[in-house]
Amino acid sequence: MTKKSTILSAVLLLIVLINVIGYLLVSCRVYVALNQYAYEQSEQISNKINEILGSTITTYYNDLDRYKLNCDQFLPVAKQVSLASPYTRSITLAADQTIYCSTITLNAKQKYPIKNVKPGVSLRYIASSPLVKKSDVFLLIVTSDDVLVNFGIDSFIFTNLLSADMNFFTPLFYIDGYLIAKNGTSQASSLTLDHGHPISNAYINLFYRIDTENYLNFGLINYAYFYLIITVFSFFCGAVFYLFLMRIDWTVFAIARGLKKRQFVPYLQPVFDKHRNMVGAEVLARWLHPKHGMIAPDTFIPNAERSGHINHIFCQLVDQVILGLKPFQTHINQCKEFHLAFNVSSPQLKHFDLLRDCKHLIYGLNRCHFELVLELTERVQIPQDELHIQGIIKLKKQGIRIALDDFGTGHSSLTYLKNIKIDYLKIDKSFTDMIGEEEFKDHIVANVLDLAERIGVPVVAEGIENQYQEQYLLNRHADYFQGYYYGRPVAIDEFIRLYLIQPAEAQSKTT
Ligand code: C2E
Ligand code: CA
Ligand code: CA
Repeated sequence: MTKKSTILSAVLLLIVLINVIGYLLVSCRVYVALNQYAYEQSEQISNKINEILGSTITTYYNDLDRYKLNCDQFLPVAKQVSLASPYTRSITLAADQTIYCSTITLNAKQKYPIKNVKPGVSLRYIASSPLVKKSDVFLLIVTSDDVLVNFGIDSFIFTNLLSADMNFFTPLFYIDGYLIAKNGTSQASSLTLDHGHPISNAYINLFYRIDTENYLNFGLINYAYFYLIITVFSFFCGAVFYLFLMRIDWTVFAIARGLKKRQFVPYLQPVFDKHRNMVGAEVLARWLHPKHGMIAPDTFIPNAERSGHINHIFCQLVDQVILGLKPFQTHINQCKEFHLAFNVSSPQLKHFDLLRDCKHLIYGLNRCHFELVLELTERVQIPQDELHIQGIIKLKKQGIRIALDDFGTGHSSLTYLKNIKIDYLKIDKSFTDMIGEEEFKDHIVANVLDLAERIGVPVVAEGIENQYQEQYLLNRHADYFQGYYYGRPVAIDEFIRLYLIQPAEAQSKTT
């Protein structure tokens, strides 16, 4: 997976996550809001029923109760009351299980069909009955002394209430063992919790039920803009996250992982004197990456310097150099001179680790006559504050030498030379490359070499690739020589084999 596709996957994950969380939160809100809405609407229905039935009872007590024992007096008033009320279809009086007075059947006696009437007020449902011509009638029964007063209530008041603008939930009435639905149908049923949430009412059992479809409709109609905002917001966050991830320097994390797995190794490039004696090596970092193979330092050193990982890389190089060279200290001592040059960046100078690691190297190779050199590049400005200068002074007190690397490429060297005594000057490869190219370029190289000579510091020329360059540099009094012409940077074991063991063996054969 490439870096970009990993980042895109992370961004996509974030977008999905925000949407899921956002939709869940809004859905919770929809759930609460719809339940509240359904509850309030159901309560309104309940109040309406109470109002209708309550006013019927009040009318009875005010206008009819006094005539209940005299049908002839009762009927005209009852008919008037029945006509005046849109809900009351009939009023019937019964006693001793006998109907003796009715606005429909007048004073004809009939058997009263309802049993177990509770004292007080109750609402009963009659699917079909001789009390009323039409079926589906509700009876509001009021017991007054021994008389049962029956108000035939038209079912339309209930079905009207049930169907009035109740798109988001299903209200249900449970009356007298019957379940009355929104469409007016009734069905004998026993009371169970499946009917939904109950609302308390004196006359009926009122329920409201909310289905998934109701939640969807309610959410889409009332909260659509919330879903839209979440979607837009998630894409906005995704875009910000993408830019943020793209700006992160992932190499720094990779370097940290590489350090943990000790993937940074030293490569040593030999350095020679003018008689072609090997007189030391420059230690160059290599990153042996398990996926990308060997990575050149130019790719990771700037990141390592910025993040401070350069201190740890230096430490790992030192450890490996000690480990590799320690068994060959006697071989090293046979060399005319031996310089071990490490590259350091200026932030390392004020870091305590550098001095500690240098001491560790000197102590680790204590039976070896060698000179530790730190190459400080002038390609970037070397800060000349107290902290950096003190850092260098402390290193020099330990006998460590300082080389000004890439000499001639920067601008700070001359002022720098005033403050610190530099031990070596390294002429950059870019100048070596100019040798023999054009006359005027030769002049530039000659100028740099002249300047180095006048400063009076030994000169190391790097990047020598052919004999012409070597001869030119010899003529211009360079002191040390480094380049592919003599040897490329190699792993430490290879360096030992090529430059320490083989020459020693060759020498022992000749003697
Ligand atoms: P540098 O200090 O100027 O090192 C010399 C570079 O030139 C090395 O590249 C070396 O392999 C290359 N070189 C030497 N002779 C020849 C030659 O004849 N022909 C050609 N074409 N190249 C030659 P390398 O190893 O890739 O290092 C590049 C730079 O990375 C170094 O430049 C140095 O500034 C930096 N570097 C390497 N290791 C470290 C380290 O451990 N710490 C720090 N701070 N910087 C390092
Ligand atoms: Ca160098
Ligand atoms: Ca250089």
